[in-house]
Amino acid sequence: MNYNKKTVKDIDVAGKKVLLRCDFNVPQDKDTGAITDDKRIVAALPTIRYLLEQKAAVIACSHLGKPNATFEAYVKKQTEKGKDPASITEEAWQKSLKKLSLAPVAKRLSELLGQDVIMADDVVGPDAKAKAAALRPGQIMLLENTRFEKGETKNDPELAKAMASMAEIYVSDAFGAVHRAHASTAGVAAYLPAVSGFLIQKELEIMGGALSNPKRPLVAILGGSKVSSKIGVINNLLDIADTIIIGGGMAYTFAKAKGGSIGKSLLEEDWLDYCNEMLAKAQEKGTKLLLPVDTLCAAEFSADAKPVLYDAMSIPDDMMGMDIGPKTIAAYTEAVKGAGTVIWNGPMGVFEFPAFAEGTRAVAKALADTDAITIIGGGDSAAAVAQMGFADKMTHISTGGGASLEFLEGKELPGVACLLDK
Ligand code: ADP
Ligand code: MG
Repeated sequence: MNYNKKTVKDIDVAGKKVLLRCDFNVPQDKDTGAITDDKRIVAALPTIRYLLEQKAAVIACSHLGKPNATFEAYVKKQTEKGKDPASITEEAWQKSLKKLSLAPVAKRLSELLGQDVIMADDVVGPDAKAKAAALRPGQIMLLENTRFEKGETKNDPELAKAMASMAEIYVSDAFGAVHRAHASTAGVAAYLPAVSGFLIQKELEIMGGALSNPKRPLVAILGGSKVSSKIGVINNLLDIADTIIIGGGMAYTFAKAKGGSIGKSLLEEDWLDYCNEMLAKAQEKGTKLLLPVDTLCAAEFSADAKPVLYDAMSIPDDMMGMDIGPKTIAAYTEAVKGAGTVIWNGPMGVFEFPAFAEGTRAVAKALADTDAITIIGGGDSAAAVAQMGFADKMTHISTGGGASLEFLEGKELPGVACLLDK
């Protein structure tokens, strides 16, 4: 995949109508609808400010949550959930849509920008079209939730064309949604010159750089709960990295595959062969693959369980692995020390329980202390790093959960592939 894409700075946006895809999929309070975290809106500001300073007329758009775009879809979903048929009305559907309106985002964005944000009542309907036509250089408007249109998630060319018809240039800055081929994230690029905003540019430069031309040695630290959710990442990084470090819940399936006893630890039987294949692939490629040598265990999965240390290959039948042990921490810290680049995806243990957070904390600290380029991909890893106070010590914390996972898998990201090459 080519990560070298044109950005807003490579195209003349002055006086132009720009359709800007943002990731305004913000968390909201269930009852009041208040935005509980505006990080994603704040993250979009540099690109928006740049466009407005350049006197572009900005037509921003985003999805929010998972609305049912049609009444039929709403009926199906509610019925599946076992809801009382009497409560499944058009009115209830309309109400569910209203909850996912982007109007609160427009309000917050306007406060942050210090200028009016014109809110459209629809995505490509008469209101959006009229407001887009009247939009002047230096002004910004926000379209309604793109998923209110049933063509959005189907990447319907008619919808993409209708969105494109309101603008002259497409700028994508929604990294969190680039792994989806939707009308507003990819389809629209077929009808307009398409470039990236600053958020995507940074993700491509740093993550793309680490994958295509890393400062070596490249050390990848992979953890989290399941092998099955990280197979693509392990497989791709085995082709690229010099060292792969395995921790977290998936380490036990590896230990079992190597003939170890893992007690009640997390095990994915179906992936034992895969683990052996990966071990063989590492050997064949000459990639160092480090597995835990000791592990902190518990008798049950609970925050107050007493931590007991065992050899990683001989966990008693009644115990389960919860974190990497001190010898493993020392080995992993050492491996990080000499790195040129470190990519980290997935916690080393059940870090939500303080007694089993040390492995994750130690790895976060090792990354914070190294001069290497350090990249965090993955929602829980990013949360752990932030919670432990190391966020500002990292080179880059990817903003996309699913998108960064697919990025690390080496998959083509439709929302990136559709942008103009440099
Ligand atoms: P990320 O979001 O960074 O990609 P994952 O979602 O793959 O990470 O995994 C995070 C989860 O893995 C955490 O909730 C953590 O508690 C869990 N986990 C880590 N180690 C273990 C373990 N030994 N047993 C069970 N769960 C674990
Ligand atoms: Mg996760």
